[in-house]
Amino acid sequence: MTFSTGLKCRECGALYPTEACYSCDFCFGPLEVDYDLQAARGVVTRASIEAGPASIWRYRALLPDPGPEPVDLGAGWTPLRRATRLGELLGVRELWLKDDTRNPTGSFKDRVVSVALSSARRLGFSTAACASTGNLATSVAAHAAAIGWPSVVIIPSDLESSKIAMTAIFGGTVLGVEGNYDEVNRLCVELVAEHEDWAFANVNLRPYYAEGSKTLAFEIAEQLGWRTPDQVVVPVASGSQLTKVAKGFHEFLELGLVEGEQPVLFGAQATGCSPIATAFADGADVVTPQRPNTIARSLAIGNPADGPYVLDELRAGGGDCGSVSDDEILECIGLLARTEGIFAETAGGVTIASLRQLLRRGSIDPERSIVAIISGHGLKTLDAVVETATVSATISPSLADAESALRFHQLVAAS
Ligand SMILES: *Cc1c(COP(=O)(O)O)cnc(C)c1O
Ligand SMILES: [Zn+2]
Repeated sequence: MTFSTGLKCRECGALYPTEACYSCDFCFGPLEVDYDLQAARGVVTRASIEAGPASIWRYRALLPDPGPEPVDLGAGWTPLRRATRLGELLGVRELWLKDDTRNPTGSFKDRVVSVALSSARRLGFSTAACASTGNLATSVAAHAAAIGWPSVVIIPSDLESSKIAMTAIFGGTVLGVEGNYDEVNRLCVELVAEHEDWAFANVNLRPYYAEGSKTLAFEIAEQLGWRTPDQVVVPVASGSQLTKVAKGFHEFLELGLVEGEQPVLFGAQATGCSPIATAFADGADVVTPQRPNTIARSLAIGNPADGPYVLDELRAGGGDCGSVSDDEILECIGLLARTEGIFAETAGGVTIASLRQLLRRGSIDPERSIVAIISGHGLKTLDAVVETATVSATISPSLADAESALRFHQLVAAS
């Protein structure tokens, strides 16, 4: 059972049936999935959700109809961990980490792909495709493999080697484009016109895909004991995750499922690709595209599709957007690992470094609760850390050598 009713234009409100369309015939605005929340009130309850599976599909009633059986590798229901040690270091009272490194293919993209491919299968598609900065490609290839579909994923050819291997292993077609993500995306829009029978997760299936991100908000609120946090820090690439996390909290509040208020949302970007942080700081309504140059490849979208909606959301709630250097990203990957035992990819470094920056700037209130979304696993971007995260010493297999290296290392570590 689902309370989704169809698609609705985000700009003019025109209604569309549940099909594979993504932009409005009247105003070219983006479409999003619409729900009858009135009807859901009192039917979707805490108890009905708690009775569901330990995955995003416990929120099935508030997602697009997946058909008889969702396409499911077990995305979601990842741990929300209280980060006492990191919180103390940053001087905040209540810090939580949403550990989305723990998804089936190691990133939050499993949420959106599970929803997109479920809708695609119900709509009669049988080939999966996407334009990707890496993590989406991996997730599409894995979910397609699990249901026996061919997949065609298109990525910049110079991505991290671990991301390419983690994608190619699933046996689909992987096209590496000599160009950046924005060029990959342009190519995919052209390909959609030629291959209307392919389900491009983030192009023609984008309205369905985007809904998957709401489950981050649903889980955070449920895991906090059915209350909303005060502040949430969200990594931003196209901006889809941030806008849908906002939508998720809205829906839970409107349904009366949670205590609290709409959280203040904060974006996190790398300075080497910070079109939204820049527009926000300049007070601009339009996002000026940038040419990305950062180690945070998963966030390297220079022309973000949901940019204006992110700006609206940040401004409406009194939020802000961090912009952090590659050195800060690397430093904060280490900080998170050493304080909390979580190994995050570069996007996680962007989130933690942005959290620290926004605390220093006074945008985030250290006395109120904070959730930071850690969206991808560190094994995906090993290249970024292999040179610095290495053995403490190389020794011969002798006790004397071991003792001397230990003395030396502990002296150095203590100083
Ligand atoms: C895709 C991605 C995001 C957010 O992407 P949006 O396009 O803004 O939804 C965040 N973190 C990681 C690791 C990602 O792969
Ligand atoms: Zn419209």
